[in-house]
Amino acid sequence: MQFHLDGVRLGDPATFGDPEKREPQRDGLPREVDVLIVGSGPTGLTLAAQLAAFPDITTALVEQKAGPLLLGQADGIACRTVEMFEAYGFSERVLKESYWVNETTFWKPSDGERAKIVRSGRIQDTEDGLSEFPHVILNQARVHDFFLDVMRRSPSHAEPYYSRRLIDLTIEPNAAYDVESDDREYPITAKLERIDAGYEGHVETIKARYAVGCEGARSVVRQSIGRKLQGDSANQAWGVMDVLAVTDFPDIRLKTAIHSANEGNLLIIPREGGYLVRFYIELDELKSSERVAERNITIDRLIAAAQRILEPYTLDVKEVAWWSVYEIGQRLCERFDDVPDGETGRRRPLVFIAGDACHTHSPKAGQGMNVSMADGFSLGWKLAAVLRRRCSPRILHTYSEERRALAAELIAFDRDFAEMFSTPPKDPSKPNSRGVDPAEFQKYFVKQGRFTAGTAVRYRSSIITAEPDHQHLAAGFEIGTRFDSAPVIRFADAKPMHLGHTIKADGRWRLVAFSDSENPASPRSRLRVLCDFLAQSPDSPIRRYTPIDADVDSVIDLRAVLQQSHRDVDAVSLPPVLLPQKGRYGLHDYEKVFCPDLAHGPNIFDERGIDRTNGAIVVVRPDQFVANVLPLDATEKLSAFFGAFMIAERSPANTGS
Ligand code: FAD
Repeated sequence: MQFHLDGVRLGDPATFGDPEKREPQRDGLPREVDVLIVGSGPTGLTLAAQLAAFPDITTALVEQKAGPLLLGQADGIACRTVEMFEAYGFSERVLKESYWVNETTFWKPSDGERAKIVRSGRIQDTEDGLSEFPHVILNQARVHDFFLDVMRRSPSHAEPYYSRRLIDLTIEPNAAYDVESDDREYPITAKLERIDAGYEGHVETIKARYAVGCEGARSVVRQSIGRKLQGDSANQAWGVMDVLAVTDFPDIRLKTAIHSANEGNLLIIPREGGYLVRFYIELDELKSSERVAERNITIDRLIAAAQRILEPYTLDVKEVAWWSVYEIGQRLCERFDDVPDGETGRRRPLVFIAGDACHTHSPKAGQGMNVSMADGFSLGWKLAAVLRRRCSPRILHTYSEERRALAAELIAFDRDFAEMFSTPPKDPSKPNSRGVDPAEFQKYFVKQGRFTAGTAVRYRSSIITAEPDHQHLAAGFEIGTRFDSAPVIRFADAKPMHLGHTIKADGRWRLVAFSDSENPASPRSRLRVLCDFLAQSPDSPIRRYTPIDADVDSVIDLRAVLQQSHRDVDAVSLPPVLLPQKGRYGLHDYEKVFCPDLAHGPNIFDERGIDRTNGAIVVVRPDQFVANVLPLDATEKLSAFFGAFMIAERSPANTGS
């Protein structure tokens, strides 16, 4: 955490955003905003929290509920999502409060007495080395609270506008949609109905440059752009209950999948706080036009089903904190924006859909909330870069391309996983009977661990994700996948830390330069040559894209990882661009250079397969994904990569010295 750059400030650094100074949010909506976000679920909040980092962008987040969510809904947080929370600055709070899913157990019908269940397996939940963070469980409402806190403490001091329901959204038919132009007009008009006491029925109108539908599966925004959720209709009913209970079931504090012989399936998810437990109970399949509400399922029925599945163990429910019965199908939209097929070359998107509004998943594989938040993170930095005139609006097309391809993959995985989970277990006394072998289910669970951890995401090449021409220089930072962090020592103060934790949700690109075998003090060092290029050349992306009065790292943040021990490097021998001067006093930033932990290991160069002779540049996107891997001396390719989508502050001709 860095502070005091522009003068010493006293007090808690976490509050330096200072909500005290916030102008009170006006009661009515603003008339015009850059971005209208509809729905303050996890998707809308992730997006709003990202945009709130930029005070020059105006955003309105509207929500039909009267206030923040207090209880219920999703609770599984994948390792990859905790990595994202680290970028937003609240991973520690999540780790402290949440339940950690370290092991998972599997139960099946006893071979001797099929009406009773027995444990069939116990495994480590997340494969070693998948992420530095665990898979955790935390009430969705707490995740919302953390994002709301980020928004409040941000430079924009943003708050949602509650009790507003979107009723209509239109796009001006002749609006300039040009893919290159970023005109300052407001082509979107939304009508919102107030539903708070004293204002019921009052309709407000707001105009926006971009709108994002994050209002869940019944999205009005999606309907307004003529998109449909396609796939299985919502035909599987699920019961979910968060309870305090007394039981003699031995694995009640472990994530547990139970297949009973004839009573159905159950998933136990222990919850934060040590006592609360969630039960997911698979209920009946619904008919094609049937809604689960029509079945009048009660909490007593859920408890009775859980008790039958757990036989011979007992379950005495003392308190029900929350319960719900909901239906879900695996469904997907054909595109996640308003651009008609075939028009991507000339039109930029103005309206987007994200989260459950464009893809829905069964809760079995715990994907819904995780993928939805990642949608918000992916779209947030792109919209900010376009609105701040840093990047061409062309990059907005990558949102639908990347996130739709991923959602389709996850839905295919979810479908297989859900089917395996729902199929009754095989009866070993009837070898020809249909059914799933519990050992096979366990194997499948282990094999698909990368999917459930959220680390299997791999974006295809695009304007912002390069072809893997030089991947061999840094094999462990696979282009298109998230930057897989590894431990390092910070050079200046010998602090052991994770390199990936330098990547914050601040809209900046990162160049991580891994040094070659030469000492960086030597003129033969390729790292030094790169640094000199970045500091001095008119073609340097840092010089071209950084506004004249801004700090040198405000658009592209250069970091270096040396091969030497931090004790063997002298600060004065480092290229000056690695000790940049910033802020009103021109203070040096000493936190740009890192070294491997040679005393305790592991060494990041070995861990991530970096070519020690030649070194490498790893280009990282603002959403933590690896965009490119290049040789240290490939300065032309580096300039060309950024030149394809970034808008120059200074052209090569007028960069001056
Ligand atoms: P949502 O979380 O649905 O948020 C959408 C928000 O938009 C809501 O706050 C809603 O009030 C608001 N909104 C809707 N329409 C409008 C409108 N016209 N105008 C203004 N605001 C509007 N997943 C699990 O893994 N496990 C679970 O147990 C589980 N339980 C769930 C129970 C329920 C009742 C629901 C709805 C979902 C559940 N899910 C569960 C799914 C999971 O919560 C979602 O995948 C995740 O929340 C998706 O986030 P989202 O932000 O896209 O949508």
